[in-house]
Amino acid sequence: MVQKSHLARRQFLQLGALAGTAALLPRYAAAQSADAEGGPHTLPDLPYGYDALAPHIDARTMEIHHRKHHAGYVRKLNAALEGRASLAEKPLAELLADLPAVEDASLRAALRNNGGGHWNHDFFWTSMAPPAKTGEADAALTDALTSAFGGMDEFKEAFAAAAGSRFGSGWAWLIVRDGKLEVTSTPNQDNPVMKGLVADDELGTPILGIDVWEHAYYLNYQHRRGAYVDAFWKVVDWGAVSGRLKKATA
Ligand code: MN
Repeated sequence: MVQKSHLARRQFLQLGALAGTAALLPRYAAAQSADAEGGPHTLPDLPYGYDALAPHIDARTMEIHHRKHHAGYVRKLNAALEGRASLAEKPLAELLADLPAVEDASLRAALRNNGGGHWNHDFFWTSMAPPAKTGEADAALTDALTSAFGGMDEFKEAFAAAAGSRFGSGWAWLIVRDGKLEVTSTPNQDNPVMKGLVADDELGTPILGIDVWEHAYYLNYQHRRGAYVDAFWKVVDWGAVSGRLKKATA
């Protein structure tokens, strides 16, 4: 598989140089899934190429993050579900919401870490877009941000503070709770949909999230998490975030 994917990548790069990359992205995206293995859950393709978020998030970080880290969560999630048909057939969000009912503590931890990792990364990839395609916050999102934080700039400060103060590995989130926007953060691969596992003030419907594990930024930014968070704003898909708010408040 490794040789095949390297070949696909070389062909992509050669053809891309001749013909422009956009038309070839779907084919390249299919080749990205080479590291996924069998089981009820699968590694989703990225909705853009590994280099699409550069220079804000570099291609090598994106490729390792998707092909190795995210793929690893999917693989370990599937391994934990092997021989457990009633859990394996649940959609991922349902599986995460039902975790408190899983009695075996080591199984519950495996599902929490790897199911959470799978959900969070899928959400993260679709929270971002190439810089030219990020769109803008719609009127409802702009109003909600103003109402909750005072404005877009103040929201960004609050979100960056949550991302910066999360000790060790974890995530910062913009969530909808009781119809209002709030910023929160969670450790490890926990997330705001894990009812019964995360603290009450971490629960809500996420509409934006940033991965602040070092693997998300270390190659390009080393210890400078703040510089990575600054760069993240260049690739936030505001159209997607606006759509999630609309859905969460419908
Ligand atoms: Mn990650």
